[in-house]
Amino acid sequence: MARLQATFGGSQPSTFGGGSSFFSLAIQGVILSELKLFIPGPTWIRPEVRKAGSYPEFGHRDKQAVEIISNILMNLEHIAELPAAYQATLINGSGSNAMECAVRSLVAETDRVLCICVGAFGELFQTLATGFNAHVERLDFTPGAGIDLDILKSVLDKGSFDVVTLTHNESSTGVATDIVQVCELIRMHGALAIVDGVSLFAGAPTCIAQALPAAYVTATQKCLALPPGFGIAFVNEAALAKAQTIKNRVYTLDLLRHVDMARQGQTLTTPNCTLLNQMHVQLDYIVNQEGLQARFARHRKQQNDVRAWVRARPERFRLFTEDADASPSLTSLYVDSRLDLSRTKALMREAGYLIDTGYGKLNKRLMAESGQVMMRIPHMGDISDQMLGSFLNALDNFTGDLAR
Ligand SMILES: *Cc1c(COP(=O)(O)O)cnc(C)c1O
Repeated sequence: MARLQATFGGSQPSTFGGGSSFFSLAIQGVILSELKLFIPGPTWIRPEVRKAGSYPEFGHRDKQAVEIISNILMNLEHIAELPAAYQATLINGSGSNAMECAVRSLVAETDRVLCICVGAFGELFQTLATGFNAHVERLDFTPGAGIDLDILKSVLDKGSFDVVTLTHNESSTGVATDIVQVCELIRMHGALAIVDGVSLFAGAPTCIAQALPAAYVTATQKCLALPPGFGIAFVNEAALAKAQTIKNRVYTLDLLRHVDMARQGQTLTTPNCTLLNQMHVQLDYIVNQEGLQARFARHRKQQNDVRAWVRARPERFRLFTEDADASPSLTSLYVDSRLDLSRTKALMREAGYLIDTGYGKLNKRLMAESGQVMMRIPHMGDISDQMLGSFLNALDNFTGDLAR
């Protein structure tokens, strides 16, 4: 099999947005070519972070690992605007692993669990809790809508739940939740809250200091704009006390072991040291170069820009969420039924972009109910205004037939 040489187009981010591939390499006939990822994770990675992937390997129990991990945890605490009573930990795997660890360590088999569900990732918590034999109830809200606090209150009043799970930013529908109000309601009912902040962390404030959930979990490959490979958990004293009472935490799902190792600047099992190098570089960039508030403001601006772009094209697209429920990191939109999304995807691929064509299960349901499907435009991580503008122009061109 012929082996092609790797070709690099250049090193400036400004070369992104052109029609030709930036990177291409064939290995045994499999062609790896670069696409700008406009999907809701994993996200586009800055050249500087890619470069950090080539830094030297190191021993994960050596003092260099302790220095790097301690620095990473410090910066994660800064990004989370974390109160002193919380501990940050790295958990090998991805966001789902951190969710599973939190559920395994905080839910007893006799517990009553409520999984608040505004989309597919709310259901994931239900799957996890059910797997650990807890008594699980699910509270569903209409896809695209947020949590109705009155309904939640009446369910909590009746249920005497021990643990409640919720999703800060539901990536399947593009709905963000006011976790301060919801977690306050949960605490008033004497339950522990576990929050999935996977697709929001580092794109908007976590609000942990105001919401005070027992556990808040996230991951590297969404708004942090890193490759996947770590789950991240922030836990408080209430979570640690509860975990002490849970019998079958075993090993990799034992939050107490993870916290104990994090306090020593370590991970429980062998971490991806390549990703640690990249994370070290990227978190320093977020905290000390871009700045947290500027990063949040950029996400807000892009949210507004994309919503305005959608509103200006009513014959092709329609917003899936109300402004009040809108996610800061991705925008979901109904696509007119005359538009062929798979053709659009193929054309965008030729132009160098990988686009999202909606959450499969949800689109099946929407198609059956309304004959329309939705897609998501992510604006998370390190996507610049210029990159987003070029992306929207390309999408405009390839969906423009209907407008003419
Ligand atoms: C992506 C995502 C997850 C799953 O995270 P993985 O890192 O893929 O395991 C969970 N919740 C939300 C809201 C997500 O967007």
